[in-house]
Amino acid sequence: MEQTVRLSIVVPCYNEESSIDPLHAAVTAAAAALPDDEVEILFVDDGSTDRTLAALRDLATRDPAVRYVSFSRNFGKEAAMLAGLQRADGDAVVLLDADLQHPPHLLPQMVALHKQGYDQVVACRDRQGEPALRRLPARLFYRTVNRWVDVQLHDGAGDFRLLSRAVVDALLSLPEYHRFSKGLFSWVGFSTVTLTFRHEARQAGTSTWSFGKLVNYALDGMLSFNNKPLRLAVYAGLLQTLLATGYAAWVIVNALVEGVDMPGYATLISAVVGMGGIQLMVLGVIGEYIGRIYYESKHRPHFLIRETDSRPAGRGPSAAPRARSDGDSPAAEVGTA
Ligand code: UDP
Ligand code: MG
Repeated sequence: MEQTVRLSIVVPCYNEESSIDPLHAAVTAAAAALPDDEVEILFVDDGSTDRTLAALRDLATRDPAVRYVSFSRNFGKEAAMLAGLQRADGDAVVLLDADLQHPPHLLPQMVALHKQGYDQVVACRDRQGEPALRRLPARLFYRTVNRWVDVQLHDGAGDFRLLSRAVVDALLSLPEYHRFSKGLFSWVGFSTVTLTFRHEARQAGTSTWSFGKLVNYALDGMLSFNNKPLRLAVYAGLLQTLLATGYAAWVIVNALVEGVDMPGYATLISAVVGMGGIQLMVLGVIGEYIGRIYYESKHRPHFLIRETDSRPAGRGPSAAPRARSDGDSPAAEVGTA
């Protein structure tokens, strides 16, 4: 394996004005332990409404190792990570949260593992520092998703990871609009190694994840990786048919033996209501898949760029069109994958 690497650190930021300077300091300190390697930091401002963009502009003029991209509105963390991956130049890319929950002091260790030949170095967090209210839904999420999805997801293994150029190019070759990174990382494969870190409380600001968002995320995870929920619908239908046939046979035999006597109003109503519920649910599942086809078929860009001081790397199969050199032009730049 090569002895020096060019490392790109991609940091998605959404309303992180108070985290940017401490994060930059921490990354710079960690980079000092990698004197042979070249380190760049690429901030992606995901349409923040606070002073994040101003802080990034300022930082980029002070530190030549810093580049930034700013979206025209909030497109979500998945889009921000995609933009970062498209523009990262390095032989290896690290995805890092802005809120210092992903400790930058792990960077030298991750780079060392990469130099040993690993393509994905996953920093896996323990859930010690988290409130039970947060840990429980997480556990439920992984249990459900791993049962219903083809790719295996590990609790605590999030987006904090180092990816080799091969993995980045593989990820960029996946054009889907609905991006579920945890699944994509696992889907592309390559040699993977895991290291564990102590989970820290958020330094500043608030987490953007509400319980409702987590539930939606879980549904996304299940629906974007396979058609097992559709399979489940088929089995539920089969089971219903079997039960109904059995019950009908029993009613007929009973009528023949005992004579015709069927009040059965309650049975009828519960059967109708129950069937209605199941049909609605199955329709919902089918609708979810059709909705996905609808979004994919629009071929909309994943994000729009309002301002940047960096050009797309032009590597990989799906780099966005080149940025305009006059950064203050109002014309939006389009990012696709
Ligand atoms: N983030 C983003 N766009 C969003 C939401 C979050 O770029 O719409 C960034 C955020 O600034 C942070 C990272 O994604 O750097 C993780 O977000 P957060 O800390 O809110 O999530 P948690 O750590 O609670 O999973
Ligand atoms: Mg966080």
